[in-house]
Amino acid sequence: MSFTMHGTGVSAGIAIGYAHIVSTVSLEVAHYVLPPAGIPAEVERFERAVSTAREAMLALREHIPPDAPAEFAGFLDLHLMILNDSTLSTVPRTLIETSQCNAEWALKQQTDKLVEQFDRIDDPYLRERKADVIQVAERIMKVLLGHPSHAPMSASPEQSRILVAHDLSPADMIQFKSHRFAAFITDVGGATSHTAIVARSLNIPSVMALHHARQLIREDELLVVDGAQGVIIVNPDKQVLAEYRLRQTQFELERQKLKRLRTARATTLDGTTVELLANIELPQDIDRVKETGASGIGLFRTEFLFLNRKELPGEEEQLEAYRKVAEAMRGKPVTVRTLDLGADKHLNGAQMVGANPALGLRAIRLCLAEPQMFHVQLRAILRASYYGKIRLLLPMLSSLPELHASLTLLESAKQTLRAQDIPFDPDIEIGGMIETPAAAVLAASFAKRLNFLSIGTNDLIQYTLAIDRSDDHVAHLYDPLHPAILQLVAYIIKTAHKANIPVSVCGEMAGDASLTRMLLGFGLRMFSMHPAHLLAVKQQVLKANLPEVTAGAQRMLKAEEPDKVRAALARLNA
Ligand code: PEP
Ligand code: MG
Repeated sequence: MSFTMHGTGVSAGIAIGYAHIVSTVSLEVAHYVLPPAGIPAEVERFERAVSTAREAMLALREHIPPDAPAEFAGFLDLHLMILNDSTLSTVPRTLIETSQCNAEWALKQQTDKLVEQFDRIDDPYLRERKADVIQVAERIMKVLLGHPSHAPMSASPEQSRILVAHDLSPADMIQFKSHRFAAFITDVGGATSHTAIVARSLNIPSVMALHHARQLIREDELLVVDGAQGVIIVNPDKQVLAEYRLRQTQFELERQKLKRLRTARATTLDGTTVELLANIELPQDIDRVKETGASGIGLFRTEFLFLNRKELPGEEEQLEAYRKVAEAMRGKPVTVRTLDLGADKHLNGAQMVGANPALGLRAIRLCLAEPQMFHVQLRAILRASYYGKIRLLLPMLSSLPELHASLTLLESAKQTLRAQDIPFDPDIEIGGMIETPAAAVLAASFAKRLNFLSIGTNDLIQYTLAIDRSDDHVAHLYDPLHPAILQLVAYIIKTAHKANIPVSVCGEMAGDASLTRMLLGFGLRMFSMHPAHLLAVKQQVLKANLPEVTAGAQRMLKAEEPDKVRAALARLNA
């Protein structure tokens, strides 16, 4: 049966491929009580699911793909052992009988219990086995839920697989940088969540906030993903498929055409040069940056180096990462943002703290609360500054004392390096992200004390409009064109110019080509965005005439009602 689902398009492009369900046992599963007569059939259903999962694993053990990693066989043996252990294969059966519950619920109860026991184990090796238990339980769960488990690597090639998940964390997403899935779709998530940002950086069509995709889509079903419109078509018929194949080709042609702009200078029609910089998460992103001809790195989100690992990266490891980027950019500016952990990005094993993590110990607040961790990073950034043009950027400032405390710690990091005769750039520029309303209002005070400002519109919108950027329930209220946001962005740009310091926008607004003319009209001359968007933005810059866009942007600032703002933008872009 063919059907369509609507969500939020977070990364443009058309993908056609086969669903690969990513299941987690932590998902809500239905709980229902069975009549006594139904118990034997339910027990049998559970046992069949265990056998099916076992057979699939044994089949895979027999036919290990030649390109599978060396440890794959051992890993399968371990999973078979876990599956055969009575804790997973027998206890849920007893639970079905004693609690008269459905098999999924029994399996979830037992898995939760095992996970809890693993969490209490001191031995790190044994604690690590928790993930294996979860994966085995997921295999059984998939069979129960009617998604027969396909062993990884045994199904269709990765390039034609569309990952379907209830939720993916930024840490999950960053791991996909080394994969080549055709698309990602999830039930939850907002367009400027860090998960969405990483999806965009992969340049792969993605749709979020589909709500029931994980439940309604089955493993291996054919899907069309329209990442721009936020539409998924499940089991498309021939005509629909042909139509989307055509659109896919057209999209690809457009992308190819834009590539011609790679070496063109980003100059407006009246001759003003605009700097188009790139945002990166990991040093390996540099290759993509080079393909677009960016004039530097406007935002290196260093916290991604800290995710998916047990130990924090030490000074030497961080130095290598920052130095690699600095050297690869050959004297072009590289803006290294200090750690922005907290909210939706966590160290392995760390719990979300506080009822409202986005308003909690995040970014600079966390660094000031953990000065030793911050010190290591500051030393690494300073040391890397010797090998290129590094600029240091402080995230989520909201008060001057935070800035003073950060600068004091920076000074002491410099002193320890001087004492050890370790070279660094003594003139390293220090910038601040303006991404809280407090910092926006105090932009002049920050500008006086810093070498540059960078406007983090993703958070500025989140905090100004009081909308959690990763919560899709309020995604419709997350509005970059809200008059309050436009006033703040225009004000920060003007304030930085008055203070005679550079200012960039490094939030997602900078990479939205429909906002380029408006931002130019506000006076912005530095845009930092994911490499995937850079050429489309450059195309807008090349077509812009500054006096014209300035007048249009002023009209937008005067508009008070949302529809008037949108009409003014349409006029500006016409
Ligand atoms: C922002 O908030 O706009 C920003 C660039 O930082 P991040 O998206 O990493 O929070
Ligand atoms: Mg931010």
